[in-house]
Amino acid sequence: MPKFPEPISNLINEFNKLPGIGPKTSERFVFYLLKQPKEEISRLSQVLENLKDKITYCSACQNISEKNPCYICSDQRRDKKVICVVAESHDMASIENTGEYKGLYHVLGGDLNPLEGITPDRLKIKELLARVKNDGVKEIILALNPDLEGESTILYLTKILKPLNIKTTRLARGLPMGSDLEYADEVTLSNALKGRLEI
Ligand SMILES: [Zn+2]
Repeated sequence: MPKFPEPISNLINEFNKLPGIGPKTSERFVFYLLKQPKEEISRLSQVLENLKDKITYCSACQNISEKNPCYICSDQRRDKKVICVVAESHDMASIENTGEYKGLYHVLGGDLNPLEGITPDRLKIKELLARVKNDGVKEIILALNPDLEGESTILYLTKILKPLNIKTTRLARGLPMGSDLEYADEVTLSNALKGRLEI
């Protein structure tokens, strides 16, 4: 006999797919939701629907956004000659939180990881090169995670940016190896950005 009725176990399975959420937490979520009034559940399902319906991607920086171009790309006060390349949108949010950076961004959509099928054509590298060639960019900051995949992405990008003769920098060391930009504190990240090194 199944442990829970099907509607319950179905939802537990869905929550279980979320990063960092195990079966116990999934169960807690479901039993919490079961106790909520129907209006609360309807509101939650509406919020979930909106996630895909109301979110688009900025065609310039590839960041998730409510409008295209996004609010950063359309902000006239930002320095359009500098592009900070990050793996994911949440890394961009971490750098924005430092309040230190006034240039634009480019979101690759991940790190290179050929073993898991993440090859260069799966990332927004073509789009980055087009921006570098067409927008008079003067500096590219490679703000990738200090781990194996981040390092291979930096190596790959440095190689393909080299012929374009563009100043390419990377975040200063000081971010612990194997860590994730998303979880770096603002001071460490802000120092890494200020002390960036040319490659
Ligand atoms: Zn944008």
